[in-house]
Amino acid sequence: MTHQDPHSCWIFGSAQIAHADLDLTVDFDRQVIHGTADYRFDRALDSRLRLDTRTLQIDDVSSDGRSLEWRLEDETFLGRVLSVDGTRGLNTLRIRFATSPSAGALQWLTPEQTAGRKLPYMFSQCQAILARSVIPCQDTPAVRFTYDAVLRVPRELTAVMAAERTDVKQEGHHTVCRFRMRHPIPSYLFALAVGNIVSQRIGPRSCVYAEPEVLAEAAWEFADVQRMIEGAVELFGAYIWDRFDLLVMPPSFPYGGMENPTLTFLTPTLIAGDRSLVSVVAHELAHSWTGNLVTNATWEDFWLNEGWTVYAERRILERLYGAEFAHLQAAGGRNDLLVAFKNFSDTPQYTKLKTDLGGVDPDDVFSSVPYEKGYLLLVEIERAAGRDAFDRFIASYISDFGFTSITTGQFVEYLVRQLPEAVKGVDLDLWIHQPGLPESAPVFSSSLIDEVRAARARWDKGERNLQGVVSTWNVQQKVLFLEELPPRLTPEDCAHLERIFELEKTRNTEILQPWYSIAASSSYERVLPTIREFLGVVGRGKYLRPIYRALHENPQTRGLARELFEKFKNRYHPVARSAVQRILEK
Ligand SMILES: [Zn+2]
Repeated sequence: MTHQDPHSCWIFGSAQIAHADLDLTVDFDRQVIHGTADYRFDRALDSRLRLDTRTLQIDDVSSDGRSLEWRLEDETFLGRVLSVDGTRGLNTLRIRFATSPSAGALQWLTPEQTAGRKLPYMFSQCQAILARSVIPCQDTPAVRFTYDAVLRVPRELTAVMAAERTDVKQEGHHTVCRFRMRHPIPSYLFALAVGNIVSQRIGPRSCVYAEPEVLAEAAWEFADVQRMIEGAVELFGAYIWDRFDLLVMPPSFPYGGMENPTLTFLTPTLIAGDRSLVSVVAHELAHSWTGNLVTNATWEDFWLNEGWTVYAERRILERLYGAEFAHLQAAGGRNDLLVAFKNFSDTPQYTKLKTDLGGVDPDDVFSSVPYEKGYLLLVEIERAAGRDAFDRFIASYISDFGFTSITTGQFVEYLVRQLPEAVKGVDLDLWIHQPGLPESAPVFSSSLIDEVRAARARWDKGERNLQGVVSTWNVQQKVLFLEELPPRLTPEDCAHLERIFELEKTRNTEILQPWYSIAASSSYERVLPTIREFLGVVGRGKYLRPIYRALHENPQTRGLARELFEKFKNRYHPVARSAVQRILEK
């Protein structure tokens, strides 16, 4: 089956990078990474090679010491293609290059933006199409390569990568770290971080890495990781990535987590002090199979990565904490999906599972649709097939497609072949190629959800004496209640919520986000200074987007949204910054 990734110049079926040897120096003064990349291809090249780059400076291209002719093509939203001539018959290539201070994948933090406040920090976030701003590459999830890397970083810092660290030593002004990734990975899973980073063991194959100031709390919060791994292995088969380490990022990290293989990156907002937000860890762990092992072929098939991973995440949670808890998470996910449908009301094509992203940056249309709609489709198939049959399907799907990248079409063909009877009752075309949600979409019941809905009925009748009920709830129940309230409340009701949910005391950001959205929409003056503080520290897009949207959509706080964004935008990772920018331009 042929396909072209609309976000890469790599032509399906042409020669691809099989291995990269990287020798890179991280220069904090100039905010650039510079060095060489030696590429080995899986076969001899044609007369011209094209690679994806973005804001990269190319200094030289050679093979076996012989310089080659190259040029950077015109800039598009995808960056600039590096075109190298005279490559016919070659198997290897060396490129000397440097990143730019504006590299979209990299964020350079001042000491003040770290927990320790003494040393700088730098990290990468390459998904979806930003790896090309760090190294020249075939920046498509359809191409996989192994790599070895040498990173030279300032002596007082250390480096980690989503790879095995094989050596660390001091040389002059530098700490020199060596890494090896022996499994072939797509470029979006290339990842590094440099800072004052230490580690603590939390399981036989897991360490937490973090700044020293947050290490102990982080190790406590994620102590359940080994049980999660064991549960996941029973569900999905052997864990092939050797290590499952966790890196707790500075607060500006734009996502909840990023499934960088062997070293998951996590937002510090998960450190709630009560182990209540570990579902993100289950999610990133699940990616070890769905996403990192079986990978979407293009970002138009993103639901194959994320729908499957949400499904896997909730199976792990069900195993650890019971079906009632997993169903509660699913009910929250369904609410997120409805919000996404509302946000896409003018562009419903982005509520399809298989999207058409020609000319569109995948990050511009990032939403919960591939996650939660994809999840609901898989649950519908599971319910049609029965769990035992579906579990056998999962096992064969992962073993048949491991270390490959597949399209939605390939998935459907395989599904119809493996579960012919079950899929007869599932309207796959409606689910995959039409916007919105089919009426048949699964709904979830759980006594935990019932408790929330009962309290809501009392609230709607005017009852405000609910703290006795709410105090017995878990975090996800509280979130569900807050999310399902009307967005605008009277100041009196805002004050009731503060009291009922003890909001002034909570440090749990999952609860704070829907609360801050309500407070912003309601112009609840008392909380605006706290929101200002929050937006100045936390860079997680999941929180920034709804809070900025609420401020922006309320005429009374629209100016404040603009003012805060201007003040804080340079503290956000480029991915989160442009997501907020788009909201404020609407
Ligand atoms: Zn994910």
